[in-house]
Amino acid sequence: MCRHLVYLGPPRPLAALVLEPEYGLLRQSYAPRDMRGGGTVNADGFGVGWYPRPGETARYRGDRPLWADQSFAEVAAVTESGALLAAVRSATVGMPVVYSASAPFSDGHWLFSHNGVVTGWPGSVAGLAAELPVTDLLTLDAPTDSALLWALVRHRLRAGEPPGEVLAGVVASVAAAAPGSKLNLLLTDGAQVYATAWRHSLVVRTEPRAVTVGSEPHDGEPGWTPVPEGHLLVGRPGHVDTAPITAPAAPGEPHEQPSRGSTEPAVPAESAPAAATT
Ligand code: GLN
Repeated sequence: MCRHLVYLGPPRPLAALVLEPEYGLLRQSYAPRDMRGGGTVNADGFGVGWYPRPGETARYRGDRPLWADQSFAEVAAVTESGALLAAVRSATVGMPVVYSASAPFSDGHWLFSHNGVVTGWPGSVAGLAAELPVTDLLTLDAPTDSALLWALVRHRLRAGEPPGEVLAGVVASVAAAAPGSKLNLLLTDGAQVYATAWRHSLVVRTEPRAVTVGSEPHDGEPGWTPVPEGHLLVGRPGHVDTAPITAPAAPGEPHEQPSRGSTEPAVPAESAPAAATT
């Protein structure tokens, strides 16, 4: 199960956000604390996306473990940004280990990451994929569930849908097509952060001038708050909102919606992911 992170706040060196925190992504790449049974290490690549200028993204991605890339450490020590999305990857069984499968995926000012797995891949979501333009499918970043999720999100963003609705809508439709999927999505435009907690861990820390959203707390400082299961988070420095994601009803079944603040999964937990690692 990958681990991911968004930081929005005063400019800081990438190293201070990714490499130096006691339990940060570097540590999470070899000793994560909350994998919930989804693999043991996150060593199948990593990626960091940041904003060298407002509205402009840069990425550094690799197919090696984060700890093995000294070049990144050198760049990260001298590069600052006030907005960052970073991820370390644990490839789901059967999915290729290539740098282009490492988050963040990007389009214009958007950076995106997925922590989880789509059950029944690829057949379960073939119908959703068929709704995308053929060129989007031909140019998927990689033949992985995460890359398809990004294509679904990107398609709706390009159509002008509000980003929070896009994430909640994609989670709801994929969860309906592939029950039991783990769908922690993370999206930023450098000013706001949007995230879903869907069958995996997600925490947030809000400070007066910053907000940090991640799979795990990356230090022992106070202020980390779990995002309730089945919820969408929308945040900016100093402020976050969470709201339940409405699960679409199966034909003939009543509508299911987790209550605000619920810690229960919004979908039944009986259908565990098929793959050993996610
Ligand atoms: N299933 C995705 C992949 O293999 C996401 C990885 C993860 O969360 N472990 O790329």
